[in-house]
Amino acid sequence: YRAKESGNCLCSFDPAMDQRMAETLEIESDLRYALTRDQLLLHYQPKVACATGQLIGMEALLRWRHPEKGLISPALFIPVAEQTGLIGEIGSWVLDTVCRQIADWQRNGLQPVTVAINLSARQFERADLACQIHDQLQDCGVAAGLLEVELTEGLIMKKPLAAVQIMEQLKQYGVRIALDDFGTGYSSLNYLRRFPLDVLKIDRSFVDDLGEDRSAEAVATSIVSIAHSLGLQAVAEGVETEIQLRFLRQIGCDQVQGYYFHKPLPVEAITELLARSQQG
Ligand code: C2E
Ligand code: MG
Ligand code: MG
Ligand code: MG
Repeated sequence: YRAKESGNCLCSFDPAMDQRMAETLEIESDLRYALTRDQLLLHYQPKVACATGQLIGMEALLRWRHPEKGLISPALFIPVAEQTGLIGEIGSWVLDTVCRQIADWQRNGLQPVTVAINLSARQFERADLACQIHDQLQDCGVAAGLLEVELTEGLIMKKPLAAVQIMEQLKQYGVRIALDDFGTGYSSLNYLRRFPLDVLKIDRSFVDDLGEDRSAEAVATSIVSIAHSLGLQAVAEGVETEIQLRFLRQIGCDQVQGYYFHKPLPVEAITELLARSQQG
């Protein structure tokens, strides 16, 4: 860092930050364009029953096929979309695409499984979010129980009262609600009790250390226990090894998602997997 004095204002000059700003601006303008040019797409990662490995759900994960930069990770562009408000349009696109996809599978004689979408804090600022989701499901002729929304503690805790209201509406419609990245946020157990949830997703950081670190094992075990005591399902994300899977089976985790079974798959591959899983 180099401190630069101009008048009585002490400005610090951080070239790394400058670089990040430039990148953010570039991503922002490219992202606006991406929305209108069909550069966004969804991959679908299977969720399987912990005990049997049977396909029982999937999570839609956003991808951006940039004409020059290739496939860009959502971890990189979702924060920019949040900052700029573009996430509103992107979120609607994700919802629309998933609902149409489910309808498409149904039209082709496939029995769909529940598909989860990730929602961001900015989307939750819309008081009519639940209505928007409900309308979209109806327009596509998709049963609400086939849609799950994944929320993070951070998102809910920004405005807990408003968030719980939206969650309750969603629940009324029949949409399932999962708490994503559980264990990394800062919601109290008292709040947890009041959220109308269906699923707790054990964060990957704990799953990573299963079989290696007793404290991660203790946390994972507790999360499954809390989930079950509250009548919720426990889902582990980021399962990569046999050891992790075995541990999760032992503690009665309900579902797992991770590279050990499947990476997020393009729509053709997930459709094939769905068809195969139904051939008995
Ligand atoms: P997330 O919702 O917690 O999604 C799980 C992330 O873990 C995904 O990363 C997934 O590809 C990755 N993952 C799954 N299994 C494994 C594994 O076994 N090993 C490892 N190393 N990683 C695994 P991805 O697709 O890069 O997404 C990152 C985050 O971006 C998501 O975290 C979610 O917060 C956000 N995101 C993705 N799609 C959307 C979207 O449509 N809307 C919003 N608002 N956020 C999204
Ligand atoms: Mg998620
Ligand atoms: Mg997660
Ligand atoms: Mg995450």
